[in-house]
Amino acid sequence: MIQVETDKESGFCFGVVTAIRKAEEELNKSGTLYCLGDIVHNSREVERLKAMGLITVNHEEFKALHSVKILLRAHGEPPETYETAALNNIEIIDATCPVVLLLQNKIKEKYLQCHGETQIVIYGKNGHAEVLGLVGQTKGEAIVIEKPEEACLLNFNKNIRLYSQTTKSLEEFMEIVAYIRQHISPHASFEYYDTICRQVGNQIPNIRD
Ligand code: SF4
Repeated sequence: MIQVETDKESGFCFGVVTAIRKAEEELNKSGTLYCLGDIVHNSREVERLKAMGLITVNHEEFKALHSVKILLRAHGEPPETYETAALNNIEIIDATCPVVLLLQNKIKEKYLQCHGETQIVIYGKNGHAEVLGLVGQTKGEAIVIEKPEEACLLNFNKNIRLYSQTTKSLEEFMEIVAYIRQHISPHASFEYYDTICRQVGNQIPNIRD
């Protein structure tokens, strides 16, 4: 007989748990709350919250809203989302995960320090909500690479500062680091920041065990 074991570290990460708790608090108070994008990649949980009054909208639908409350999920959002909310008198319940928020702030600070002189590179998935929020900190200038094979597309004569989407693979991130180290010009500098969240990273060794 096949034995199925559940990883004791599995389940929603604390960022998602906090976002769900914030949504529940508001729904218990007012019965209606908008959410920008699915609050969690779990249809059962999304359905449960929908039954409580959560209305999930995409970015186009969000722009058409006025004078409502909206929850920003753990992935975070680019600055334009906050600007639209201010213009449309939308109250934000910000459930951006503190780990993502810290990463957004680090990228923004680096971008402002070395604007134009340096390539800000994000290892992540193009179009992913968290990555859009990170790229938004650089007015869209950050370069996104999705896999180690794409590291060769960087300009090695220019400084590189490398970050990662929080849920990416540490092994692949280190492959990218090794490639850049090998190819960076002696006239340029390279710094990397391991910004992978261990809430997710820790689950991979547990799954292997
Ligand atoms: S950064 Fe970590 S804790 Fe926060 S939402 Fe992402 S996976 Fe969850």
